[in-house]
Amino acid sequence: MSALLEVSGLKVNFGHVEAVKGIDFALHEGQITTLVGANGAGKSTTLLALSGLVAKAAGRVVFAGNDITRMPAHKIVDRGISQVAEGRATLTTLTVRENLELGAYHRNDAQAIAADYEYVLALFPRLRERLDGLAGNLSGGEQQMLAIARALMARPRVLLLDEPSMGLAPLIVQEIFLIIKAINQEGLTIFLVEQNVRQALKVAHRAYVIETGEIVLEGTGEALLDHPRVLEAYLGV
Ligand code: ATP
Repeated sequence: MSALLEVSGLKVNFGHVEAVKGIDFALHEGQITTLVGANGAGKSTTLLALSGLVAKAAGRVVFAGNDITRMPAHKIVDRGISQVAEGRATLTTLTVRENLELGAYHRNDAQAIAADYEYVLALFPRLRERLDGLAGNLSGGEQQMLAIARALMARPRVLLLDEPSMGLAPLIVQEIFLIIKAINQEGLTIFLVEQNVRQALKVAHRAYVIETGEIVLEGTGEALLDHPRVLEAYLGV
């Protein structure tokens, strides 16, 4: 199976800090791939490098057969890689409807946009009830849902999710993971970065564990859930 997105030798430095130290990973079409690790391990940096939002010190990114290593962020989005940033990042002074419309701002296929709008509202019925409310008045979980819905409005080929469970109550976390699974079952390729190792491994087809900028384990989500190092270091068993 050839990868939809392949990253090799990725390095990112912040001054003297080597945040990502030459990692390799691949995303396969239609799968959920997860990158899990502790706070500060280099997960967000990896995502930002993929999106073109931080500079790569070394490495290569190939997407659908094209080298996108040096492509600027807006062109990477145009190619179909959409990122949902950590901390939800909805535009709080805009309404839910406006946030969703912004997600599709670079598209001009009105009929398909309307269909996607209905799709995301069916996926997140709570957003439909709050279409004319300000995003800033939503609960944390609802804002996370809106951030995902807005990214889906771009009709991406790959969705990058940065810690969607962060700061949410356990029941809401469950809901978010169910939605991630449902979106993937519609065929979307997902790259999920998480500190919630257990939940992320449960939904992932393929998983990588990152520690201080290096990938130390990889395998199926299922296999890593049972791996002694994962059990000991991340699952408190
Ligand atoms: P978190 O869950 O906190 O986001 P993470 O695994 O995503 O953790 P990163 O945010 O990627 O980790 O951080 C990796 C390393 O890079 C850390 O040592 C962090 O302090 C450092 N770092 C991240 N962003 C910057 C920055 N803008 N300037 C300097 N150092 C940074």
